[in-house]
Amino acid sequence: MPEEIMANLYRMQIRLPNSPLKVLNSYVIKGEGRNILIDTGFNHPECKESILSQLGELGIDLADTDIILTHLHADHTGLAPEIYRPGTRIFLTRKEIPWMLRESRRELWGRDNRRMLRSGFTHETIGDEKSFSTSRSMASDPDFDKYLPIDEGNEFSCGGYTLKAVLTPGHTPAHMCFWMEKQKTMFTGDHVLFDISPNITLWQNVDDSLGDYLESLKNIGKYDVKLALPGHRETGNFHARIAELLQHHEKRLEESYEVVLNNPGLTVYDIAGKMTWRIRCTSWEDFPASQKWFAVGECHSHLRHLERRGRVEAYDDGELIRYRAI
Ligand SMILES: [Zn+2]
Repeated sequence: MPEEIMANLYRMQIRLPNSPLKVLNSYVIKGEGRNILIDTGFNHPECKESILSQLGELGIDLADTDIILTHLHADHTGLAPEIYRPGTRIFLTRKEIPWMLRESRRELWGRDNRRMLRSGFTHETIGDEKSFSTSRSMASDPDFDKYLPIDEGNEFSCGGYTLKAVLTPGHTPAHMCFWMEKQKTMFTGDHVLFDISPNITLWQNVDDSLGDYLESLKNIGKYDVKLALPGHRETGNFHARIAELLQHHEKRLEESYEVVLNNPGLTVYDIAGKMTWRIRCTSWEDFPASQKWFAVGECHSHLRHLERRGRVEAYDDGELIRYRAI
C-alpha cells in the first residue's frame, strides 16, 4: 500500500527476502507525462509482485517512467531490468554501471573473492560461491545493458519537483543522493539511514571507502535538509544522525586500532572476530558466512582508513595480509 508523503510523492515498502534490512523504501513521483521511480528491490518474484501491485494502485505505467537508482546494491537495482518496458529509462551513477554488466561484474566479484581469501577467509569458512554474499543471487540480470549514466549535478524534473544528483561515495563507490531544494527534502539512499548504520566495505578500485564515506557525510551535512527519505526503515533528524554516524565510525576506528595494537599480526578475518557486532550469535564461529562477509568487509574499510591516517600498517606474509600498529 503506497503511502503519500507529499502531493504526488509516495513511499512503497518492498519486503526484502533473506535480508536483515527487511524492507526497501522505493519512492514514486507521479508526473503529468512521465513518472519517477527511485530504487526497486531485489531480482526476486516477491519484490516484483509487490512493486507491480503498488505501482498498479497508483496507476503508474512503467513505459512512462524513469527509474533512478541511488546505488549499485542488489536490493536497490536487482529488479530494474525485470520491470523495464520499452519507453522506461533506467539511470545509475556512471561509475557503478560496470558492476551491473556481465563481464565487468564477473571480474569485480572475482577480485572481491580473492581479496576475501587474502583477508583470512578460507574456502571452508566462506562456504560456496553463493554464500559469499547472499544478495549476489538476487542481483540484476547481467545481460541487461540499457543503463543511462548519472553525473553529479544532473537534474530530473517530474510532477512539479526537481531532483538534483548529489555524489556521496562511501557506502558504494559513487552512491548518489537526490536533493529537492524547494522542499528541503533529500532522498538519502543508503548514505544516511536512521535505524541502522550503513555498511561500509572496502570496494574494488577505491582506495579508502570509509574515508570517502566520512567526507560525504560531512558534505551532505551542509544541506538544509528538513526531510530525509532513506532507502530503508524510517526517517529521523538528519543533522543529528550525521553527527551520530561520524561518532560511530570514530568509535569503531578506535576499537579496531585497539585490537591491532593488542594482537599484532592478525588477518582482517581474525580482527573482525575480535570486534563487537550487533548480531544474535554467541561467537564469531557461529556467524553465518554472509554475515562474516559483511563484518570482514566493514572491518577492512576501517583498517584501510587507519592505514591512511598513519596508525596501522598492512603487510603481506606471502599468503595473507596482516596488520600491525605503527
Ligand atoms: Zn546499499
